Amino acid sequence: MTGKAGADAMPAGTTSGTPQVLLAHHLKQLKLPTVLREYDKIARECARDGVDHPRYLLRLVELALIDRERRMVERRIKAARFPAVKSLDTFDFTAIPSLNKMLLLELARCEFILRRENVIALGNSGTGKTHVGLALALAACQKGFTVAFTTAAALVHQLMEARDERRLLKLQRDLQSVMLLIVDELGYLPLSPTGAELLFEVFSQRYERGSTLVTSNLPFEDWTSVLGSERLTGALLDRLTHHVHILTMNGDSYRLKQSAGRRRPPPQPIGRSKTRPPPRPSIPRPAKPASPDPRGKADARQGARSGPLP
Ligand code: ADP
Ligand code: MG
Repeated sequence: MTGKAGADAMPAGTTSGTPQVLLAHHLKQLKLPTVLREYDKIARECARDGVDHPRYLLRLVELALIDRERRMVERRIKAARFPAVKSLDTFDFTAIPSLNKMLLLELARCEFILRRENVIALGNSGTGKTHVGLALALAACQKGFTVAFTTAAALVHQLMEARDERRLLKLQRDLQSVMLLIVDELGYLPLSPTGAELLFEVFSQRYERGSTLVTSNLPFEDWTSVLGSERLTGALLDRLTHHVHILTMNGDSYRLKQSAGRRRPPPQPIGRSKTRPPPRPSIPRPAKPASPDPRGKADARQGARSGPLP
């Protein structure tokens, strides 16, 4: 199966060298690294198993396709600039009862991206909003969507810098073109009037063109304190929440729970198993109790103003 290509079968200008050397050269030119790496090994396997030429080629091409898809997922993950790679496999749903698990699992199928719908995760600090954002972002990369991950503060900084350097339009076009934009941590830092306007423009330009996922520690009613103007906040929420899924994530901070667990290790009496779980530390409940949205998909235009706030 290793094949013996005669010199007369070679294209003009490639008549010297052994077939393997030429094949390696051509496969590199064609950007088929998996075929180059695997063709000989698979040929031997096929010869051993009596597999014919078309099936040999099929095996090789299938392997090349799988490998290419894996590399593309890796490329999308790299381009998305995740601060960490997290998935729903490592997410403990029992730690956050206010979260609508069915809705999150449905979102992880990424059909909301095809429908250009938005997602907003609201809740106090440490409840897994960034984790969930990253997990949905990873799922999107795996399903072939382009993704960008940033924080509200970093995005505004980037926009202001681009404006000063007269490359704002290019950045805005780039931000508009990703299929899923994740803006994490809206609410920790108040934005300058210019920053708020630039952020509004991003959301506005993406409206019905691409999905945006925002995480915030603030309920909608408090977004004015970050964006400055009531008029701008209203207009921004209007666009962001027209087609939206709300993830309500109020509860105990997972970080606090973990560090409390580390500070107070469980007593290990002699003879007891060391794998016994530590006792649950008691964490004070947040001031604003959770109000999960039982419908999953919230009518946030209502929710943002008069409905039950997260
Ligand atoms: P938030 O963005 O809401 O402040 P994070 O997503 O940053 O919270 O969560 C803080 C840390 O706790 C992260 O390391 C995250 O992976 C972890 N974490 C939070 N919630 C959960 C959970 N339900 N299951 C597993 N890990 C969690
Ligand atoms: Mg976070």
